[in-house]
Amino acid sequence: MRTVDDLGEIAGRTVLVRSDLNVPLADGRITDDGRIRASVPTLRALLDRGARVIVCAHLGRPKGAPDPRFSLRPVADRLGELLGRPVQFAPDVAGPASVAAASALADGSLLLLENVRFEANETSKDDAERGAFADRLASLAQLYVDDAFGAVHRKHASVYDVAQRLPSAAGELVAAEVAVLRRLTSDPQRPYVVVLGGSKVSDKLAVIENLIGTVDRLLIGGGMCFTFLKAQGHDVGGSLLEQDMVQTCRELLESAAARGVELVLPVDVVVAAELSEDAEASVVPADAIPADLKGLDIGPATVGLFRQRIADARTVFWNGPMGVFELTPFAEGTRGVARAVADIDGTSVVGGGDSAAAVRALGIAEDDFSHISTGGGASLEFLEGKTLPGLTVLESG
Ligand code: ADP
Ligand code: MG
Repeated sequence: MRTVDDLGEIAGRTVLVRSDLNVPLADGRITDDGRIRASVPTLRALLDRGARVIVCAHLGRPKGAPDPRFSLRPVADRLGELLGRPVQFAPDVAGPASVAAASALADGSLLLLENVRFEANETSKDDAERGAFADRLASLAQLYVDDAFGAVHRKHASVYDVAQRLPSAAGELVAAEVAVLRRLTSDPQRPYVVVLGGSKVSDKLAVIENLIGTVDRLLIGGGMCFTFLKAQGHDVGGSLLEQDMVQTCRELLESAAARGVELVLPVDVVVAAELSEDAEASVVPADAIPADLKGLDIGPATVGLFRQRIADARTVFWNGPMGVFELTPFAEGTRGVARAVADIDGTSVVGGGDSAAAVRALGIAEDDFSHISTGGGASLEFLEGKTLPGLTVLESG
């Protein structure tokens, strides 16, 4: 993959950087700035070398038109604080305001464009539509750097098409993410344990299928465990259940057994009638979930079991919270598993936006992990062995 060093002299040149600044917001306030912080090293390095930097990024899922709820303006302020330099903000995406601000940029200064998904063509399936928007983006700059690991699995104008229109390279974050994930896909140290959670089996099906070929143990918690429990013949009450995935889960259980992969499911579950901060929670065996209650976290016996199946691992990849960690009564499972993953003597990698946010929200030191990936979907697709459009375009020759 080409790196910034392959771009030659960058002092005085205008560099368009695609960053991943897709942070969670509540009432216009940033609740977790991890992705902004992860974007800083590449930006700082370019600025220190005298480049004129234009950053583009997306936030949330606006419907291809400006929507103040998804404005990057609060992100501009936070980015400025973290960089310790002023950040100019253009209220459009490669429109008149961006063009004017870009042409007035001084060496070593930075301009952030408004949410790139305010342009419908950013995510268009039509090559010509995306291309037309990519032309406008490319006209702002002379060089392109992709540092948005969380978006490299997307064939979007600001990720894929623009890279074909300018001399392009991977930023430090993309390079670091790829290096870590390559270690997981080629010859990981064993035992290699993968812990999966989060809300949906269907989101993670492909990665589970692929991992059954490479891992020694697969531990499954979170909302997705209930479809597996159902596949084993247990009733799951009001828990999250993907009925149309039950047969698939049955097949996955069989294929894991046939390949000698240990697939570990919860043995107890924290249940409650409702999802709320003051919910009355109790612990029940995983095969005896009352019909009128929902499973919202793995139970303490499961935390112990998972910890024990993680402790001797030399490589762990963890994606997806073990429960609804956003609410105090259902956070202990995720905390316990995060702690167990952090404590191993080996390579520990966390992938997934919510999982990374959980680590920070639960107060576990980020440095206790070998790597916290900024890309949820992107890291999973990498592990599935898919070709990622945003990486392919950065490869040499
Ligand atoms: P990531 O972003 O790390 O890949 P996901 O997006 O797949 O993770 O899943 C995160 C969400 O899963 C969290 O918002 C969490 O509340 C939810 N979740 C976890 N366990 C459960 C459960 N038992 N029932 C409902 N939702 C759950
Ligand atoms: Mg998520």
